[in-house]
Amino acid sequence: MRKILIANRGEIAVRIIRACRELGIGTVAICSTVDREALHSRLADECYCVGAAPSRKSYLSVAQIMSVAAVSGIDAIHPGYGFLAENHKFAHICQQYKIKFIGPSPQQIKQLGNKVEAKKIAAAAGVRLLQGSADPVAAETEALQVARRIGYPLIIKAAAGGGGRGMKIVHAEEQLKNRFRVAQSEAEAFFGNPQVFIERYLTSPRHVEIQIMADAHGNVIHLGERDCSIQRHHQKIIEEAPCPLVNKKLRLRMGNAALKIARACNYESLGTVEFLLDQNGTFYFIEMNTRIQVEHPVTEMVTGIDLVKEQIKIAAGEKLTRLTSFTQLQGHAIECRINAEDAVTFVPSPGKITDCHLPGGPGVRIDSMIYNGYRVPPDYDSMLGKLIVHGQDREEALARMNRALQELQIEGIKTNINFHSKVINHPAFRRGECSTGFIAELLNSGK
Ligand code: ADP
Repeated sequence: MRKILIANRGEIAVRIIRACRELGIGTVAICSTVDREALHSRLADECYCVGAAPSRKSYLSVAQIMSVAAVSGIDAIHPGYGFLAENHKFAHICQQYKIKFIGPSPQQIKQLGNKVEAKKIAAAAGVRLLQGSADPVAAETEALQVARRIGYPLIIKAAAGGGGRGMKIVHAEEQLKNRFRVAQSEAEAFFGNPQVFIERYLTSPRHVEIQIMADAHGNVIHLGERDCSIQRHHQKIIEEAPCPLVNKKLRLRMGNAALKIARACNYESLGTVEFLLDQNGTFYFIEMNTRIQVEHPVTEMVTGIDLVKEQIKIAAGEKLTRLTSFTQLQGHAIECRINAEDAVTFVPSPGKITDCHLPGGPGVRIDSMIYNGYRVPPDYDSMLGKLIVHGQDREEALARMNRALQELQIEGIKTNINFHSKVINHPAFRRGECSTGFIAELLNSGK
């Protein structure tokens, strides 16, 4: 591979440019009209403006992106996460034009991108699922039957869902009909697919996911887990590796379950197999993501592996350099997603960064696209970047995150920096005891 087009923006576009540069691969960026001065546009070897600010006119415009691919003479496209990363039709178009899509095959993206299909693959591979409907549920009467079989609380999810959207929790039968209808119409509106399914809702689980890596030669390994239980509105905001509750034995079991799923579909590329872990140490498959994840750096910090470089090498047909899975991870890593938003209402806060100071020192990493004077556009998601720390153990990582958050200053817009400090210093978080309900409980308690 000599030249890669990065079909994305923000911190992940910058991250991919950095990996390419270290590999000696040329980079072609695309940008919208409001992103001409964005860091990814400035850092890439070449940059082409592909359209107006709304994503559908630029970062989602397949025709424009393929035109840039044609004129710039690239070998491959890296989709990052979001935008076109899980769009099997786009991956297919790349294939037809003999451009390597850096990710799995269109078929794998399609199959695994549908949560119902993915659960079928997992079940066939012998991996435990939460009780629920085996197929999409189309009618209210059917929803009622499933609910009577599995009981409450339950959750209605969009088969094509993502980003924590399109999920409805139901606590009692009288709520079912209405929430079922809303879930179906939201699934159609957000994802262009009205299919929904039902599964048991766990009240205080941990979200634990396994990073896997598979090459085109049938080698597949896992790189241990990430704990992503600190979420708001089902979206992750703090992640760590390893998970404080997972010991070597459990890691081995969860890792093997993830590998079984990857092998069952001849998976190729990086992938993340997501599980919910209950209080008894039982884990249930919920979905698989067929792309690089936002939270990939915590795995990089505890394994010493550059996941983006590996992903590119796999796409180039190279064999995995490491062939053994990770049951022992080095030290402890924590990531805080720094968002431009009001910390209480979570309403995005775009605007000009009038001053910023990024922390440094031992064990501190920043993956971000911000700089002094950067104008955060209102058109995209509110994440400004990630602050990641690594320590010899969780205690050192916590102390390091605490001091890095104190050093981090972003002026001119609202951010969630103080909110992160509050969570990091919360006794329950320090004890490693937080489930996915933690943030909602914290906000409800008004503390
Ligand atoms: P998305 O693809 O939108 O991210 P996921 O299926 O990965 O959706 O779920 C996102 C989050 O929603 C999980 O991490 C968890 O907090 C919550 N969740 C999803 N399914 C369940 C469930 N059955 N029980 C409890 N929480 C759930």
